[in-house]
Amino acid sequence: MKNGMTYKSTRGEEAESSAKVILNGIASDGGLYTPSFFPSITMEDIKEMAGLDYAQRAAYILSLYLTDYGYDELLEYAKKAYSRFDEEMAAPLTKVDEKTFILELWHGPTLAFKDVALTILPYLLTGARKKQGQEKKTLILVATSGDTGKAALEGFKDVENTEIVVFYPNEGVSAMQKLQMQTAEGSNTHVVAIEGNFDDAQKAVKDIFTDKAMIKKLSEMGYELSSANSINFGRLAPQIVYYISSYVDLLVNEEIEEGEEINFIVPCGNFGNILAAYYAYRMGLPIKHFIVASNKNKVLTDFFDTGEYNINREFYRTISPSMDILVSSNLERLIFEFTGRDCEKVKSLIEDLKESGMYRVDEDELYEKLPQFIGYFSTEEETRTVIENFFNEYNYLLDPHTAVAVSAYNKYMSDTYDNETVSVIASTAHPFKFPEDVYEALTKKREKSGQKAIKKLYAYTGIKPPSAIAELEQKQILHDIVIPKSGIKDTLIKILQKD
Ligand SMILES: *Cc1c(COP(=O)(O)O)cnc(C)c1O
Repeated sequence: MKNGMTYKSTRGEEAESSAKVILNGIASDGGLYTPSFFPSITMEDIKEMAGLDYAQRAAYILSLYLTDYGYDELLEYAKKAYSRFDEEMAAPLTKVDEKTFILELWHGPTLAFKDVALTILPYLLTGARKKQGQEKKTLILVATSGDTGKAALEGFKDVENTEIVVFYPNEGVSAMQKLQMQTAEGSNTHVVAIEGNFDDAQKAVKDIFTDKAMIKKLSEMGYELSSANSINFGRLAPQIVYYISSYVDLLVNEEIEEGEEINFIVPCGNFGNILAAYYAYRMGLPIKHFIVASNKNKVLTDFFDTGEYNINREFYRTISPSMDILVSSNLERLIFEFTGRDCEKVKSLIEDLKESGMYRVDEDELYEKLPQFIGYFSTEEETRTVIENFFNEYNYLLDPHTAVAVSAYNKYMSDTYDNETVSVIASTAHPFKFPEDVYEALTKKREKSGQKAIKKLYAYTGIKPPSAIAELEQKQILHDIVIPKSGIKDTLIKILQKD
């Protein structure tokens, strides 16, 4: 193998190459793979990207990290993946006022930002299988708070030598998200609802990755595990691309000067999306602030305020279900950087979290080392008001997750009066994925049936529902099992035995 990027677990396990890291998904010590260094991009590199289309930009950035793959190979994958988007630039920017932009990340097949990574991950994984000479089938396990599930099912359906099993919280996703998953086609797709919340699903899935007996059993059945969750570095890398690409676009459109710092505002759940922005920053992208937006489950806001990460609190179901998470897995990667890549320190913090549901880092040190991070949260009422006001003011319809980010941005602005800095708000889902709640925010009227809400929302806003949503009505429910959260392992074995 050529001299390439290697990856180390946040909990200390030795280095692996990019193909292996994508295949494994998570390190066997339970830690998350992180690149051994951040490749740099200069202003010259950024200016050169101006002439490239989105797939070329993606291939270029990915080639800096995924050094087991050739540039041409990555370009082929990126072209295939991003041709499925309904916008030429895959992740276009919309200007809402002088200094504020929306980065639309939902132009892919399932209308959520997860598509940006999950349309290309199957190619990266298939490529990795070849490079590693993997003969076993790849078993993709997914825990989803709603959007990852459908995007992964769509990306991996009918991919050779691959089975995908998605676990989602039965009561914790929107009606549209549930329907999208229940109607997933493909001979290798499996969808299971669990009685529990996302954290339960994520914990159960993560446990399987470190359960030696289970791994052995699956191996005897001919499977090797991998993950399509954002713990897989193959999910994060494609997300770095759009932060850099948006900067290129701002420069091309003369919205910023070369080297000018900008803000990113990101609605956070598992912390993968905003971590990708941080990785872009470490590569050299000029970023002033990362605004970590949370809903009522404001563990992250409290963490950035106080240095204490504490999940001993009530869990709320909100109208932004993909952010209803208490244990944000990818924060471990930020903590790894915060501690100066001290694996022992990371391990002891994670141990604290396991034992007492909390850990604490020094508040002053947190501010000193990561001053760019600021957390804000939005209450349900504030989120609804933002959807209504934003539509009235800009004639632009926000989904509830993006509205949480706009709400956080408004709070940031009233705290800082930061009128000088260009701010880019990551828009993570299409509003028609949450028609009942968006319609209610606009009209104060509740329409219980999703399909009726879609029609009424169309009539009210004049915005046409995307075909991926409109078609759902005609689709057949193919997956409807519900199991207790303790039954995940047994169910998994049963599903695979039937195959
Ligand atoms: C997954 C998701 C988020 C949270 O992203 P993370 O990378 O998990 O922080 C926010 N909004 C939507 C619509 C999502 O699907």
